[in-house]
Amino acid sequence: MNDTIAAISTALGEGAIAIVRISGPDAVSVARKLLARQNFPEHGRMYLTTLIDDGEVVDRVMCVNFKSPKSYTGEDVVEIHTHGGILAAQTCLELALRNGARIAEAGEFTRRAFVNGHIDLSQAEGVLSAITSRSNEALRAAARTLTGELSREVMSIHNDILDLQGKIEIQIDFPEGETLNGLDVSGEIVPIIRELEALIPRCSAGMLLSHGVRAVIAGRPNAGKSSLMNALVGKKRAIVTEIPGTTRDIIEESVIISGVPVRLSDTAGLRGTDDVIEAEGVRLAIEAMNEADICVYVADGSCELTAEDWDYIRALEGRNAIIAVNKSDLPENIGGIDSSLAKIHVSAKTGAGIEDLRRVIYSMAVKDCAVNAGLNVSAFQLEELREALQDLKEGEESAVIGAGEDVTAGLLGSARVRLLRVLGVDAGDELLDSMFSRFCVGK
Ligand code: GDP
Repeated sequence: MNDTIAAISTALGEGAIAIVRISGPDAVSVARKLLARQNFPEHGRMYLTTLIDDGEVVDRVMCVNFKSPKSYTGEDVVEIHTHGGILAAQTCLELALRNGARIAEAGEFTRRAFVNGHIDLSQAEGVLSAITSRSNEALRAAARTLTGELSREVMSIHNDILDLQGKIEIQIDFPEGETLNGLDVSGEIVPIIRELEALIPRCSAGMLLSHGVRAVIAGRPNAGKSSLMNALVGKKRAIVTEIPGTTRDIIEESVIISGVPVRLSDTAGLRGTDDVIEAEGVRLAIEAMNEADICVYVADGSCELTAEDWDYIRALEGRNAIIAVNKSDLPENIGGIDSSLAKIHVSAKTGAGIEDLRRVIYSMAVKDCAVNAGLNVSAFQLEELREALQDLKEGEESAVIGAGEDVTAGLLGSARVRLLRVLGVDAGDELLDSMFSRFCVGK
């Protein structure tokens, strides 16, 4: 943390500009060694200057310095805006490294911002999500998180618990039989539980917007799985033929449905076969069905369901599954489908019903997530929030059954610690390593 780090913070490729970021106690002195301009003392102001290598002008650049603590990392930071493309930025970085900086590790700028108390762990997650978001909904969730909305919510719940814990702990010190005038512990915990219960679906939504769901398209050969995949994706991705058994591998493609990334997999047609390669395809298809968040079972509506269809449909009962009755442009001959699964009539050929299918996939993916109010968390943070909720519920129960003030206070304390962990308080190196290694170099 005491050294000065540097990295290219923009994506490598042809563009108008690229930015090399230098952060640490020697940021200014390192930058001075590469730049013609020696005096850039004013905080936050951009200067036009040149990048010099061994007395020779290499590029015309803009530079800006942010004085500690008013910078992204909280340290002295100099950013040099070179021309885009790979070479100018790389030369600038190499010069910085030659003049005393060391190359930054993945996520190290943001890690320094966290260690210096500029952002908490939830905001760091928001930064990561802002970089990786693939939809407007995901970007909004990231913006909410990195501007501290989750931190504020978590802190407010934490403080409510702290208040109550304090009141209960005073009671512990009271002499036997005496109580603080009518403290209704259960009545005070319930609103806090409600707050956390409202927050968790927002965090699940953030997870959903970042990571999406996996939907598998399965069914008998020739039911129209590949055609349906192409219709959902909106382009020809999977091979469509009237020869059964053509799709043997799993073909994957991502689509975004109202902000939710959905990874679609087209699978081999489900049938008994002596062909070794096809049989392996069927095995993979069944495995994918078992692992999928959502299963779209495609049935050919122009002919009757086979015994195999029935076996698979029954196996999907109770799961997040839809029966897509395909080929609705042909006369229907499928008969009644005795299943509790959602059924949608579609035609991969004409596009009829495809929007309805998308809507059902979307609502199955979203379930009770608050997609329009999403906030970003990592799996670890979401788990801590859920555990904190569990602690609060047990705390409430302990108050109802009169398990003792110390038990209730202990559970509230545990919930509080978990909430602080969401914000990264007392986070160990291991956690920080796993968190920041998900970032790219330069962030
Ligand atoms: P898969 O084996 O389940 O992947 O099925 P394909 O997508 O390869 O389609 C098998 C055959 O059914 C092809 O000849 C397609 O043109 C045809 N097909 C697929 N969907 C439809 C549809 O909605 N209507 C009609 N009429 N034919 C379809």
